[in-house]
Amino acid sequence: MVELQHIIPGCVIVLTGRADGDISSETVLHQKMKDYGKTLIVPRLMHGSERRVVTKHEMFQCDALITTDQAHALGIRVADCLPIVCSIKGKGLTVIHGGWRSLLQSIVPLTLADLCSTTMADPQDIFVWIGPSIQQCCNTMQSLPIQSHFPEWKPYVHEKKEQYSVSLQDAVLDQCRTFGIPEDHLYSDGGCTYHETESYYSYRRWKLERKMTTGAPHFGVVAWMEE
Ligand SMILES: [Zn+2]
Repeated sequence: MVELQHIIPGCVIVLTGRADGDISSETVLHQKMKDYGKTLIVPRLMHGSERRVVTKHEMFQCDALITTDQAHALGIRVADCLPIVCSIKGKGLTVIHGGWRSLLQSIVPLTLADLCSTTMADPQDIFVWIGPSIQQCCNTMQSLPIQSHFPEWKPYVHEKKEQYSVSLQDAVLDQCRTFGIPEDHLYSDGGCTYHETESYYSYRRWKLERKMTTGAPHFGVVAWMEE
C-alpha cells in the first residue's frame, strides 16, 4: 500500500497494489482503512455518468463521489479503468471511476462542475491526479474503437500498422484543460496496469489469460481531504 502525501495539494491518496492482494471484496479495503480512522465509502460502479455528493454513509450506485467532509474517505476499485482524484484544498474532493463508458458520457467535466458548485470554488482551484490505468501502449485493438465515432474523441484514437490505440488519459487531461484547470495542477501517474504486472491488476490481462474461475481481481484507490 502506497500513501501519496502532497502529490496534489489538499488530500491524501492511498493506492493498494499486488502486494496487498485483490480488494474486490470491500471488506479488505475497509479493514485497511481502519488504521486511518476514516469512514470509507465505496460506490457500486454503474459505468455511467451518475455522480453523488456524500452527506451520510449509505450505499451509493454511481461512478463519482464528491465530499466536503474530512471524515470521509472515498474509494474505488479499479483494474485498467482510470482512478481520478480531484481536490480543492480545504473545500472538497472527488473520486471518479474513469472507465471508457463513463468517460464517453463526460463523467469528468460533469463531476468537475458538481465539485465547483458544491464547494463554490473556481476551476483554477482544482488539482487533478490520474492514477495507474491502462495506457495507450496497451489500450490497443484490431478494429476501429468506439471512440472514433465521436468527433471530440478522434484526437485520442491513433492508428499504426493496422492497429488502433486510444489514450484515455490524454482525453481526460484535455477535458480538465478545457474546464479551466491550470496546466501545473494536472498530474498523471503514467503507470500502466496492463504491462506493469508486478504492481497492478489488469482486467484485460485477466480476460486474456482466461482465469475466469474467480472474479477479476482489483486494486483500490482511496482519497480523503487533508486536515
Ligand atoms: Zn502498457
